[in-house]
Amino acid sequence: MGENILDHDAVNVSWQKGVFDAHCHPTDTMSSIDELPGMKAKVLTIMATRREDQTLVDQVAARFPLCHKDEYEHTASKFVVPAFGWHPWFSYQMFDDRSTNEIPDATTHYKAVITPEVTDEAFLKALPEPMSLTQFLIDTEDRLRKHPFAMIGEVGLDRAFRLPKEWLPEEFKSRDTSLTPGSREGRRLSPYRVQLAHQKIILEAQLRLAAKLGRPASIHSVQAHGAVHEVLQSLWAGHEKMSSRQRKRRSSAAGAHAADHDEEIYEESLDPPSFPPRICMHSYSGPADFLREFMHNKVPVDVYFSFSDVINFSGPSSEKVVDVVKAIPDSKILIESDLHRAGAEMDGRLDSVFQRICDVKKWPSEKGVKILGENWRRFVFGA
Ligand SMILES: [Zn+2]
Repeated sequence: MGENILDHDAVNVSWQKGVFDAHCHPTDTMSSIDELPGMKAKVLTIMATRREDQTLVDQVAARFPLCHKDEYEHTASKFVVPAFGWHPWFSYQMFDDRSTNEIPDATTHYKAVITPEVTDEAFLKALPEPMSLTQFLIDTEDRLRKHPFAMIGEVGLDRAFRLPKEWLPEEFKSRDTSLTPGSREGRRLSPYRVQLAHQKIILEAQLRLAAKLGRPASIHSVQAHGAVHEVLQSLWAGHEKMSSRQRKRRSSAAGAHAADHDEEIYEESLDPPSFPPRICMHSYSGPADFLREFMHNKVPVDVYFSFSDVINFSGPSSEKVVDVVKAIPDSKILIESDLHRAGAEMDGRLDSVFQRICDVKKWPSEKGVKILGENWRRFVFGA
């Protein structure tokens, strides 16, 4: 792991300059929101995932609004940047009515998007009434316009997850009522998954909305990095950046002069894009080999990779992640807690992943705070 070059007092001092959580879920525990003003982290980027948390994220962002890009710099106040989106774990709850304008029968819908085909009647009966993708996109666009720095998230693809089984009566009676409903909450897992094709439809529609409003997106990908790349690639097709040499070659073929010693500067197409300008691969778990797919100069999206203590630096993946972090340019790394409650534990998780990243990158803590802060700022605001 290399020597620990951090000293804790230095970390505390430099944290005052601002540490940013690029991806978290404190609205899963609404009682923890009161702890947000006392946190060390300066801005939380809070994800919405499902029907139960979209309005909660909206409300919390309205309570801690970030109105100007520089607002957080000279104040002890804490801020929230909201993200609105539909997570792949809940993608089965949505039907695509964009071309049909029809509300499908719930059973027909669920049998079509869940694999293997649902035969468990108790499970099927307990599924919620499915929702319209069209209506969700309208509501999400409203929320994005209401919060000028809001982004799309959490969206993505997941090949590994299975849907939780229906609540047993005794389980439901003893559930922790301080948690926002809708997540698994320790329920047993069914054998059922959501068809990847359906997950892709829900993801792509949301990425197009991000593109429409020029907002970034926070992306979840589990065993699906190739598929996420495919969806993005299909959206940016025709928008790949060209080097000035390629551009000149193209215009000289049209009769213009070709300049000699061109620099390899990649430029973007001027057509309106159908992909987000920036994305964050949250809790990035893909291999180092795969990074070049996202980092190639012709890719017209500014891609960031975010790391969490929980997912990336514990268990079997913690060895692999060191090589991945080393391979990512300094300017493309973000940190996150991915935690389901605000407060001291969230600060602790951020501190822990901050130190791991600084350790791998051999950054003194002050440099780490500076680089990670600048990266978060570029991811959220653009330039
Ligand atoms: Zn998350």
